[in-house]
Amino acid sequence: MRFGAIEAGGTKFVLAVGTKDGEILEKTSIPTEHPDTTIEKIYEFFKNKNISSIGLGCFGPIDLDKDSKTYGYITMTTKEEWKFFDIVSALKEKLSVPIFLDTDVNAAVLGEAQFGSAKDVKSALYLTIGTGIGGGYVVDGNLLHGMMHPEMGHIYLQRRFDDDFEGHCSYHKTCFEGLASGPAIESRWKQSSKDLPKGHPAWDLEAYYIGLALSKYILILSPEKIILGGGVMSQKHLFPMIHKYVQEILAGYIHSDHIISEEIEDFIVSPGLGDESGIKGALALAILG
Ligand code: ZN
Repeated sequence: MRFGAIEAGGTKFVLAVGTKDGEILEKTSIPTEHPDTTIEKIYEFFKNKNISSIGLGCFGPIDLDKDSKTYGYITMTTKEEWKFFDIVSALKEKLSVPIFLDTDVNAAVLGEAQFGSAKDVKSALYLTIGTGIGGGYVVDGNLLHGMMHPEMGHIYLQRRFDDDFEGHCSYHKTCFEGLASGPAIESRWKQSSKDLPKGHPAWDLEAYYIGLALSKYILILSPEKIILGGGVMSQKHLFPMIHKYVQEILAGYIHSDHIISEEIEDFIVSPGLGDESGIKGALALAILG
């Protein structure tokens, strides 16, 4: 049996066909254009592939409430053409297969839980830190939804004493995303994060804010694994600094088999699937139904 997978992002859509074991047989990527154009290209890719269903990990916010009139809609996105677009119905109509929808970050954490860094634990948190910041959480195979879905990038963080940056989030100014996303780094330091050298103070401050946010998630969700992906996290030198700040901020309070004190390198990690967490997670959405 073959399954379809779609990782829908603000700049591109990744499309794949895979097996129930998580093997990707075929994969392509298309730019995010007008919804009509994009849906047509998705149809062209999947039309003769004989897939039984499609898992869709989608940028948001999206409506995941099955009792809602707008279930399956992308809602208040900043991408005007996609605002209140019913992506689930559009795909169902074209391809006549069941569509299993979740957020891009929930798909990513599911991918890591099924096939990647978190396959040996029961609970895991995935955060993407790039153009925006978002998080997905899985426990005992179940993705966390609730009222809509978590928006972990927008928790309020206290600015560090030596930081007077006004913040970059248009809703909250100095939330996590407003202080630590790629655009926030660039706006604070007036240069692209890719051009900032390793020893630049930007990275210590970045690690501090990530460490501060992770400490809150650890206290609230108690994940057994934290996976950090996204463009900013391709700066691998951030990891040891984040580990140090998480230990400092938690101040020895969490005792669990020395995970925080001695095994933190195995607790806060890079995606085991590299840049395939999202697409393999979308595949897992289709497989698990
Ligand atoms: Zn915000």
